[in-house]
Amino acid sequence: MPTNPYAWIEQSLTTIHKADWYRSVQTLQSRPGAVVRLEGREVINFASNDYLGLAGDERLMQAAIAATQKYGTGSTGSRLLSGHRELHGELENAIASLKQTEDAIVFSSGYLANLGTIAALVGKRDLILADQYNHSSLKNGAILSGAVVVDYAHADIEDLKIKLAQHRQQHRRCLIATDTVFSMDGDLCPLPEILELAEEFSCMVLVDEAHATGVLGATGAGCVEYFGCTGRAIIQVGTLSKALGSLGGYVAGSATLIDFMRNRAPSWIYTTALSPADTAAALAAIEIVQQEPERRTQLQRNVDILKQLIAQRLPHLKLLPSESPILCLSLANAADSLKVGQELKSAGIFAPAIRPPTVPTSRIRLSVMSTHELAHLEKLVDVLSAIAI
Ligand code: PMP
Repeated sequence: MPTNPYAWIEQSLTTIHKADWYRSVQTLQSRPGAVVRLEGREVINFASNDYLGLAGDERLMQAAIAATQKYGTGSTGSRLLSGHRELHGELENAIASLKQTEDAIVFSSGYLANLGTIAALVGKRDLILADQYNHSSLKNGAILSGAVVVDYAHADIEDLKIKLAQHRQQHRRCLIATDTVFSMDGDLCPLPEILELAEEFSCMVLVDEAHATGVLGATGAGCVEYFGCTGRAIIQVGTLSKALGSLGGYVAGSATLIDFMRNRAPSWIYTTALSPADTAAALAAIEIVQQEPERRTQLQRNVDILKQLIAQRLPHLKLLPSESPILCLSLANAADSLKVGQELKSAGIFAPAIRPPTVPTSRIRLSVMSTHELAHLEKLVDVLSAIAI
């Protein structure tokens, strides 16, 4: 008797349910912002990556509308065929100017930027040294490249050195790849030390600035700027979808690197160019990041206030170490984090439970925005203090 070749899918879902690992979408019914409408109710939003509150900014929306009226909705082809518009070049120049690099290239998402860049830079004869907590796009880019991948312990420079000493010599090229702000923890990679090791062992360095761009550094250029490493030989990947409030990804670096990407990154060459609306919105966002540093100052102020409130009023709760607007409350297990997430939601706070397999230990992830008001932060702490954790 032939068996149903798809039956395993349902069994697998049952296992996912049993482990409290099941996930499903929640519908947001308003513009993005510090307060949003979620499934019929107004909630304070600690769940978005819209750190500067730009995704709902009138100027980005107007830029997207104007670009759509001028160029239409779709870009109709890949950049090397019919997809390239003047706007793409303007955005790439703006990213290069923000990052103070020679050039930049825009991808259709940050995920695609990491896949394409890593696959273009290294292959079978090469080595990737990767932080164990790297984002999925870095991990899958590493797999796609066919290079030998060796993980080092999270942000552990000693372990990176040991692994370089063990493996580097057996390979042609070596790429050290790391998030700068770790998206599910909020801590930073030890960039200056990584760059030192990269010099010693002749390695390229790729950093994912997804959660740092627009947020960290005096001009909002990111973690590279925050650590005073602007101008160093670094491959900077990032997204236009978090602090920049749009959609798309980028790589910034030397002119040679970017020229090489245009010729060798499959996820740029063989995919449709970023839409005119997304491109124009990101361009408007970069202008705001450069002209309104007070947004970053306010964001940092909000982070400091929330950390202080949590330390004072919730001393029994453990906050994971963080130097970014991502603050994580550590919880014992997936069931507890689901319960707290649910109770927060019932009380009008939107903050997701993050569980394995996304992270090794369960937590509630709080994303602070520059547009949160003091009352929002206080309400969050009031609600948390009323939940039995
Ligand atoms: N890198 C990191 C660290 C991220 O958090 C994300 C988004 N979750 C990405 C890359 C992918 O970016 P995008 O959403 O633009 O595909």
